[in-house]
Amino acid sequence: MQLEDRTCLVTGASKGIGRGIAEEFGAHGANVVVNYRSSEEDAYDVRDEINDGPGTAIVAQADVSEFDQVEAMYEQATDEFGTIDVLVNNAGITVDKKFENMTREDWERVIDVNLGGVYNATKVCFEDIRQADEGRLINISSVVGQQGNYGQANYATTKSGLFGFTRTIALELANEGSTANTIAPGFVMTDMLKDVPDRVQENILKRIPLDRFAEVEDIVGMARFLASRESSYMTGQVLGINGGMEW
Ligand code: NAP
Repeated sequence: MQLEDRTCLVTGASKGIGRGIAEEFGAHGANVVVNYRSSEEDAYDVRDEINDGPGTAIVAQADVSEFDQVEAMYEQATDEFGTIDVLVNNAGITVDKKFENMTREDWERVIDVNLGGVYNATKVCFEDIRQADEGRLINISSVVGQQGNYGQANYATTKSGLFGFTRTIALELANEGSTANTIAPGFVMTDMLKDVPDRVQENILKRIPLDRFAEVEDIVGMARFLASRESSYMTGQVLGINGGMEW
């Protein structure tokens, strides 16, 4: 039970990668806060799945782009579990368009969730993570932040932004022994990828040396390792899990 004594808040845990990470943490004995924005039924399924195993979970609704809602989520989580040891900034959205067609609104929606949400959640959990016995910040970026991707100027910007953020927070946590790292997945079979047209998916596949899209299960083990005490001496890093895509 690698995470038995850990309380972990996972943003965007109702679906996809966040759901996989939340369930993986629960399977290793963690207390898990399952955050969602709109997929209520899915979030309660995740909670039940975790509570059926060795972990303990609660659901916390909050739009991560809204600071007041994130503060309320933190209050709910700490009323239940006392303190947060591990924060996974996973919640993210895409609004894909060629840059020439991308409005300021399209730009800001993605920045508000993918970076504003990271600010909000990290801000409210920061002191807990710093004071925890080996607290952990884990940010979910993307290979798109490393390579860029046609039609994703807004999204790529947010995912690159996490590299500087992670590195800086790693420095600011280091003297207390807590860490910050980023996972940069390649293309993972979730709703986000299923929304991409087949023709575009075929072109992406040609760029993946391992010749398949990732499954959520390919990502969650690294998140568990980073959340555990086994990763004590690793901080400020970007871990690519991308089937061999170069950048
Ligand atoms: P997904 O299946 O679309 O799930 C997104 C999750 O984020 C959902 O649980 C959703 O909750 C939540 N969410 C979205 N906006 C939110 C908000 N404002 N506040 C709170 N929660 C919010 O996406 P995914 O593929 O698992 O992606 C998860 C993360 O991995 C994202 O940061 C994404 O950029 C990154 N990533 C994905 C891929 C990929 O190929 N799929 C590759 C690299 C990186 P509700 O449904 O409840 O609104």
